[in-house]
Amino acid sequence: MRMIFLGPPGVGKGTHAQEAGEHYGIPKISTGDILREEIKNDSELGKKAQEYMNAGGLVPDDLIIETLKSRISRDDCIEGFILDGFPRTLEQAEALESISEIELVVNFNLSYGGIMQRLGGRLTCRKCEAIYHVKNNPPKREGLCDLCSSELYVREDQKPEVIETRLKTYERETKPLIDYYRKKNLLVDFNAEGEVKDVSERLIKLIDKNLNQ
Ligand code: AMP
Repeated sequence: MRMIFLGPPGVGKGTHAQEAGEHYGIPKISTGDILREEIKNDSELGKKAQEYMNAGGLVPDDLIIETLKSRISRDDCIEGFILDGFPRTLEQAEALESISEIELVVNFNLSYGGIMQRLGGRLTCRKCEAIYHVKNNPPKREGLCDLCSSELYVREDQKPEVIETRLKTYERETKPLIDYYRKKNLLVDFNAEGEVKDVSERLIKLIDKNLNQ
């Protein structure tokens, strides 16, 4: 079961890739998560990636393709995987073809208002990295983490001006992949509007139907 979850930032791909991965017993592979971990570990890759990420741009293809390649060669990917946030350019999609055979691409759709609501207002704990949302999931005490009482902050790439750049980057670099995968007959459209639980259930049905489970 080798799948790609495609769509703009803020559409809920990460949350649903996690849930669907648990449902099917395959890993969710998020290149964004891998890069954030590298930054935390102060690795060479992390140092190179940080500037692009903070500005809302893309990390160069050669770096990210190598990273992805080594991740999906690990044993836990034998039964398959869900890619969240990769590929993001045509060059990455073409490289992926020579690494692995993708069976399904789910194209997440959400209104611009929905995306802005999910992306804006996110708060992260400086210490334990718990995530809150000023409207949907506010902390009990303003500005403080419920779990460890540390200070909450807005991540660099979640500031309004960077969100705007990330959405523009998606339109320019990643949106062409919709046509690319549609022409290959691998793409199904998915309406990501609604409560997480309902969206998850619809998503599993859609995947089952398209992969003939
Ligand atoms: P995400 O958590 O998927 O939104 O990724 C956060 C940031 O990591 C993006 O805004 C990019 O700067 C970088 N990134 C993640 N995946 C890729 C990718 N496949 N290609 C290039 N840059 C990426």
